[in-house]
Amino acid sequence: MTDHYDVIVIGGGPGGYVAAIRAAQLGLKTACIDKSRNDKGKGSPGGTCLNVGCIPSKALLDSSEHYEMAREGLAAHGVGVDKVSLDLAAMLARKDKIVGELTGGVTMLFKANKIDYYNGHGTLHAERKVSVRDADGKTSAEISADHVILASGSAPMELPSVPFDHDTIVDSTGALAFEAVPEKLGVIGAGVIGLELGSVWRRLGSQVVVLEALDTFLAAADDHVSRDAARQFKKQGLDIRLGARVTGAKTGKKGCVVSYESGGKAGEITVDKLIVAIGRRPYTDDLFDADLGIVTDKRGFIEIDEHNRTGMENVYAVGDAVTGPMLAHKASEEGVAVAEGIAGHPGHVDFNTVPWVIYTHPEIAWVGKTERELKDEGIPVATGQFSFAATGRAKAMNEAGGFVKVVAHAETDRILGVHIVGPRASELIAEAVLAMEFHASAEDLARTIHAHPTLSEATHEAALSVAKRAIHKAN
Ligand code: FAD
Ligand code: AMP
Repeated sequence: MTDHYDVIVIGGGPGGYVAAIRAAQLGLKTACIDKSRNDKGKGSPGGTCLNVGCIPSKALLDSSEHYEMAREGLAAHGVGVDKVSLDLAAMLARKDKIVGELTGGVTMLFKANKIDYYNGHGTLHAERKVSVRDADGKTSAEISADHVILASGSAPMELPSVPFDHDTIVDSTGALAFEAVPEKLGVIGAGVIGLELGSVWRRLGSQVVVLEALDTFLAAADDHVSRDAARQFKKQGLDIRLGARVTGAKTGKKGCVVSYESGGKAGEITVDKLIVAIGRRPYTDDLFDADLGIVTDKRGFIEIDEHNRTGMENVYAVGDAVTGPMLAHKASEEGVAVAEGIAGHPGHVDFNTVPWVIYTHPEIAWVGKTERELKDEGIPVATGQFSFAATGRAKAMNEAGGFVKVVAHAETDRILGVHIVGPRASELIAEAVLAMEFHASAEDLARTIHAHPTLSEATHEAALSVAKRAIHKAN
């Protein structure tokens, strides 16, 4: 007899495991199928994010920041360090330990919530029957459910002219595990992943060249933010070449020769390692049978309606496998909304308040629309900007670069976007997200008491500045 569930979730990343937990909390009999395994062959739920994405990259970003701080940043605080050395193996082992603890945590949460966890590849068939296959292709379980949530995530995109060899030419996963610091490192793509991984290895000593096809740097960010960030990255020695479209790469004895076109001219760099970070594609390989009514669009994303319903009855899809920002927290919120909808508490995810974060140094974070986007839409805006250089806390931290910018509707004062480049932007953005979630005005933020001295005073002053009444600058 096959086991029957209220809900089967295929994929155990932030979309899938969170959906499974929420479904179980609401009293639904739930199973989650995830195929990830660690190098010991043990099930490792948590998806891209926990295994090879958000978490290991942030572990290395933090470690490499400490290394750079010890080498170059502590002197400004009057702290002398005689000899700073790098133990890369220990740094990578710390990252792996964190991954192990967090993926183990998901397994424990499955148990605590009485979710049946199947480690294998799940495929959806007619009548919402789902088969689970082991790594060797043998069917290990056949189960069925009233509702199925597809949360299969995404995979790195490959540049056809620069195929991965997973040694010299790697994807983001390979770039989290270089055994030695490459002397010369090339990165294709100045997106979030390219900038974060490029930053890690630059801090650890690589000479990094980032080749980006677009002429604009961080086109999705606010213009002031991307300009300020580009200036700070350049100062750090990150060589970002815009308008440079990579056309091929050849690996030989002397390294990897990467060719690109820029302004009609051919260019070339020679590197020891090359990270291809040109984006991710939805991963739906062997996820569902062809004749079920589930459709993918031309880029491969599973088509859904506004409640994440696919073309098959009671089958939903969430996260990177569907349209929208490829972010862990977006996947999780969709998972929660779908689980609650199944349990009879329908809701929705507000895509206007999804925060974006780039964990470089300085950090970059934003929520809502940019000034340019709003102006292009003909919406009248009033903006307020405040530099960290004028806040006591940032000065005390010796982290005075960057600013907070609040963009509000010129007539209603409603906050439409907040853009930050500077220290702890990833944490500071939460206040802005909450303000926008509550439809706050710039004045609401301006009249909120912020502790002194904190970095959040920059947000406070930026909100005051919308009405030209910031205290610690000339308006
Ligand atoms: P995934 O996390 O990809 O999980 C899907 C899971 O399903 C995987 O474990 C996969 O093996 C499994 N699976 C797929 N098909 C099947 C099947 N048929 N049967 C069984 N299992 C299956 N996002 C952020 O918000 N913040 C960050 O800081 C951040 N940093 C990142 C850094 C890097 C280097 C990368 C690569 C990504 C980063 N992301 C970040 C993006 C984030 O990882 C994704 O948006 C998020 O993981 C998407 O969640 P998901 O649940 O949709 O899919
Ligand atoms: P993201 O989509 O944020 O992950 O960023 C990926 C980046 O890679 C985008 O900014 C693309 O413009 C860039 N990109 C894609 N293909 C190429 C290429 N052949 N050469 C250089 N950059 C590229």
